[in-house]
Amino acid sequence: MMNNLFDFDQADLTAFFVEHGEKPFRATQVLQWVHQRGVIDYAEMTNLSKALRQRMQEHFEVRLPEVVTCQQSADGTRKWLLRLEDGNCIEMVFIPESDRGTLCVSSQVGCALDCSFCSTAQQGFNRNLTLAEIMGQLWVAEHSLRAEGFQLCDLNQRAISNVVMMGMGEPLANFNNVVKALGLMMNDFSYGLSWRRVTVSTAGMVPAIRRLKSLCDVSLAISLHAPTDDLRNELVPLNRKYPLAEVLAACHEFVADSQRRRITIEYVMLHEVNDTPAHARALIKLLRDLPVKVNLIPFNPFPQTHYQRSRPEVIELFRDILWKGGIVTVTRKTRGDDIDAACGQLAGKVTDRSRRHLKQIPIRQEHYG
Ligand code: SAH
Repeated sequence: MMNNLFDFDQADLTAFFVEHGEKPFRATQVLQWVHQRGVIDYAEMTNLSKALRQRMQEHFEVRLPEVVTCQQSADGTRKWLLRLEDGNCIEMVFIPESDRGTLCVSSQVGCALDCSFCSTAQQGFNRNLTLAEIMGQLWVAEHSLRAEGFQLCDLNQRAISNVVMMGMGEPLANFNNVVKALGLMMNDFSYGLSWRRVTVSTAGMVPAIRRLKSLCDVSLAISLHAPTDDLRNELVPLNRKYPLAEVLAACHEFVADSQRRRITIEYVMLHEVNDTPAHARALIKLLRDLPVKVNLIPFNPFPQTHYQRSRPEVIELFRDILWKGGIVTVTRKTRGDDIDAACGQLAGKVTDRSRRHLKQIPIRQEHYG
């Protein structure tokens, strides 16, 4: 199959142009057309010669995910179901707020981590998304919102001002494509978002957290959910491979020799599972000395789950205990739950290849070795 233009970042495009006897800056011109201005028709790329446009046409197709449905929640949140070339479907979510527009992007078809409280886990795992499929999500969301005349909130007149890699999948298990995508999101010739506005969320893939720091400056969120290994082993099976002490050590390294980094800790509030004052106190002890902000996420139910959301007063008490322990804590507002677009509710349509139901051991090495 022909190359997809969306699979090429700045370095790849530069290599292509140099190889074809062109100046390296052609790469930045193409990025600007495609990702900044949203132009994917070569005929409109007027600062490229006709011959060059012809050559581009011969080498690159533009293939984007196909929008199957787009639902809008009563609170303005939108969820798209996108079909990929192989027939699998993924979901992405746009969350508008007064001062920002956040796109929640998927990184894999399904997820291999099998967290017990997450609906994506129930879909099983199929494969990593390509760079084109990750960047295609941004392009489709940005340009469909613009086309509808969506109220642009950002200085750059864009609908998307923030990206969170919190959709389907474990972003750090798709390391190379995700790092390239983050590069394009933060590249001034492309989306040009600041590192503060681009967040990678991980269930705690320790070696990948270390590599991430050395490769790209980005905001980090850790899906922690439990203050002890026993409980976390049950909720996040990846913890058996990378226990809390190792995750926390990687977090300390991530913020080391850098004043400005603060890690977001995600903590899903599960009724009578991880939501008692004792859990809150243990969490304070665990997070001592680490610059963090804790996000409490009221559990979002989905079919066939046995978990329930913690009661509001329990969440409030938990938050107050953390505050008194010196930890900045906010309760994440539930958005888009009427269209199943809230945290942990993204399901897509995944052809499961992990055959998880046939396996005894939930952790499978090959997906995040
Ligand atoms: N795999 C990555 C990216 C997914 S982010 C990670 O684990 O961080 C999605 C966030 O929503 C994670 O913090 C996840 O733990 C949380 N989540 C999953 N299921 C949920 C549910 N049912 N209710 C609330 N939050 C949930």
